[in-house]
Amino acid sequence: MKYVIVGGSAAAISAIEAIRSIDKRSQIDVFSDENTPLFSRVLLPYYVAEELSKPLLNFRSADFFDEFGITPHIGVRVEEIIKEDKAVKADDGNTYAYDKLLLATGGNAIVPKIPGVEKENISTLKTMADAEKILNMQGKKAVVIGAGSIGVEASISFLRRGIKVTLLEQLGQLLPTVFDEEAASIIREVVEGMGVEVITGERAVEFKGNGQVTGVATRAHDIDCDMVLMAVGVRPAVELAEKAGIEIGSMGGIKTDSQLQTSTPNIYAAGDVCETFDVARNTHFVNAIWPMAVEEGRIAGLNMVGNKAEFQGSVRMNSIGNFIGFPAMSVGVTHPDECSYVDEECHFEEIKHRTKNTYKKIILKNDCIVGAIFVGQTQKTGILTNLIRRQVNVAEFIPALMSKELNFLDILPILRHHGDIFTEPEFKELMDTGL
Ligand SMILES: Cc1cc2nc3c(=O)[nH]c(=O)nc-3n(C[C@H](O)[C@H](O)[C@H](O)COP(=O)(O)OP(=O)(O)OC[C@H]3O[C@@H](n4cnc5c(N)ncnc54)[C@H](O)[C@@H]3O)c2cc1C
Repeated sequence: MKYVIVGGSAAAISAIEAIRSIDKRSQIDVFSDENTPLFSRVLLPYYVAEELSKPLLNFRSADFFDEFGITPHIGVRVEEIIKEDKAVKADDGNTYAYDKLLLATGGNAIVPKIPGVEKENISTLKTMADAEKILNMQGKKAVVIGAGSIGVEASISFLRRGIKVTLLEQLGQLLPTVFDEEAASIIREVVEGMGVEVITGERAVEFKGNGQVTGVATRAHDIDCDMVLMAVGVRPAVELAEKAGIEIGSMGGIKTDSQLQTSTPNIYAAGDVCETFDVARNTHFVNAIWPMAVEEGRIAGLNMVGNKAEFQGSVRMNSIGNFIGFPAMSVGVTHPDECSYVDEECHFEEIKHRTKNTYKKIILKNDCIVGAIFVGQTQKTGILTNLIRRQVNVAEFIPALMSKELNFLDILPILRHHGDIFTEPEFKELMDTGL
């Protein structure tokens, strides 16, 4: 058996480990067009803040490829899939045959076509090369465009380096895809309190400057700056798949089945590049987060070896707390209208509780949680992902879930009652960690 894996990050490494847990010998070629192997993208904001050195970004040891008997092709880009020959063509001039192929190509940072976008000192933050470029940008004032998780974290990274920051968001709130307005208003206060200037409801229309960027224009403001970071989103990197005629889903990711196989037999996809079934939304979706990439990689790897493994569905989870030093997390959907309705019998309910510094919201569909937001107090909320994934009826436990301090003893009856629908490792983990 010959395995080829395109991409060398969360999904790819997880797939390698799954394959090797069963098949200790077969040839595995892994390709990454980035020059730095095995770094965690999640930690890049700490690197850009000069708080972590490069070796500390690694999520596997440097001898990982040797230890697992892998042939790495670092800095090599796969350019084409030749389906009829079951081979890939790489930019090192060689062709590599496969029996099973995994596309774990992640996403590409979106670069909007704003006039002046080609000027110096403008970067996205997706790759290690981006991070190094940002570290080399000199100046006292940055503008960050886009207030999603990466934009907010990058703003704090600049602040921690003593660089003044304006965070610009075209919609009316921070973190628009992962928190609702009320939660975002609390987080905005925290972020502004740290020293970030936040402008919402305005979009960048031009980058000023000769050669190097010196400002960002909106319809209402001219914001002076020495550098710009664009964080307006990530799009699944489907070029290879598209060129090979592999089916792309309605959300723009590679369409996969529950075993992570694409529309072409023997070709699998995992991670930010693919669409999988989202339990809360009740439809296929691209949930571009690290833990999903790891789980999808694991399932794809097992199926590539021939062990039938079913993906249990994805659930989005975002936590901004660590980086801003204030607890805030959300899971599943943030509004009922993000769910695809099953029939007219569906009944949605939003239960909210707000104090000065805390906010909790649980969204129910027929008494099962499909989304939750916890701001100011996030301890022991780990169980929410499992309650969503297993669609547990929580009607009688709402007071416990909304109580001031989520208490393990309050939740225990839910676990006991539904122990049979949690997998054994899940149940054990929940019990061991006390949630
Ligand atoms: C700054 C930042 C912060 C983040 N923070 C968080 C967080 O706090 N929590 C969280 O859950 N998620 C976070 N994420 C998202 C998380 O990093 C991704 O979900 C995860 O990395 C996806 O893993 P992946 O393996 O699918 O793809 P990626 O990590 O995107 O890796 C894909 C790799 O494949 C390479 N590649 C693509 N095409 C080819 C080709 N043709 N040939 C060879 N190589 C190719 C790419 O260059 C890349 O190295 C963050 C992302 C960023 C950028």
